[in-house]
Amino acid sequence: MSKEVRSSDHAEAPIQSHEIRDVQQTTCVIVGAGPAGAVLSFMLARKGIDVMLLESHLDFDRDFRGDTLHPSILEVMDELGLADRLLQLPHTKLSLVAPPAAAGPRLQFDLHDLKTKFPYIAFMPQTRFLEFITSEAQRFPSFRLVMGARVEELLEEEGQVRGVRYRAHDGWHEVRTLLTMGTDGRFSRMRKLAGFEPIASSLPRTRRSLADRLHHRQGNLSTSPYSRTGDLATGNCRDSTGVC
Ligand SMILES: Cc1cc2nc3c(=O)[nH]c(=O)nc-3n(C[C@H](O)[C@H](O)[C@H](O)COP(=O)(O)OP(=O)(O)OC[C@H]3O[C@@H](n4cnc5c(N)ncnc54)[C@H](O)[C@@H]3O)c2cc1C
Repeated sequence: MSKEVRSSDHAEAPIQSHEIRDVQQTTCVIVGAGPAGAVLSFMLARKGIDVMLLESHLDFDRDFRGDTLHPSILEVMDELGLADRLLQLPHTKLSLVAPPAAAGPRLQFDLHDLKTKFPYIAFMPQTRFLEFITSEAQRFPSFRLVMGARVEELLEEEGQVRGVRYRAHDGWHEVRTLLTMGTDGRFSRMRKLAGFEPIASSLPRTRRSLADRLHHRQGNLSTSPYSRTGDLATGNCRDSTGVC
């Protein structure tokens, strides 16, 4: 079938025609299988909500992916009932953190001081983490993952977003849905397509969150675990295979 669709950003876009190979229906479509999209899909699928997760790449292997799972993330995994199985995957634990200090004595703090079941940072390639989350989601019949699906267009009708169109190796596909969510990262295509302006927030605040938690929970750290320049803490793991 041939349909008229918008080929680029929001309302200013020129109209082009594409051959649409098929039209699929689902309740939610989530665009981008990074940590946000993968976990959100899992959470919806386990509630029995039909969800389709679209990822532009054919695998999760990316150079830029981070590899640290912090205590707060591990707590979330635990709440989702995933922590035990996740931590069966190969990983390294770091508990003693020594941030770089521009001047003065070297600082260090011990994550065992945190009131958490997971007093460490787990190092695990994000590729493996995403494979794990999506494979857990696959256990639910309401979940569907499509790799190699690059969303390029929003399906808009009467001023409402009704789904997306994505390009795969075999051509264009359409997904019709009640709810469309963009979790496609910092340079979000979905955000541009929807005409949303990102709200700038302060990076140092994000970086300080672990320090803030330490101070709030413990109230007994005499020194800030962050250097004067606000650099992100770096670990001093001594053992690449076990707890530091
Ligand atoms: C160098 C670096 C190191 C980092 N290290 C860490 C770390 O150690 N620990 C940590 O917790 N965080 C780390 N981060 C931050 C972390 O990677 C991000 O916070 C996280 O990846 C954001 O997740 P996300 O799901 O929002 O987006 P992303 O991880 O960016 O995922 C977005 C996904 O959407 C897909 N996508 C994009 N456009 C489309 C489209 N049009 N159609 C379909 N799919 C699309 C992308 O391929 C991607 O898979 C690091 C970031 C960088 C840059």
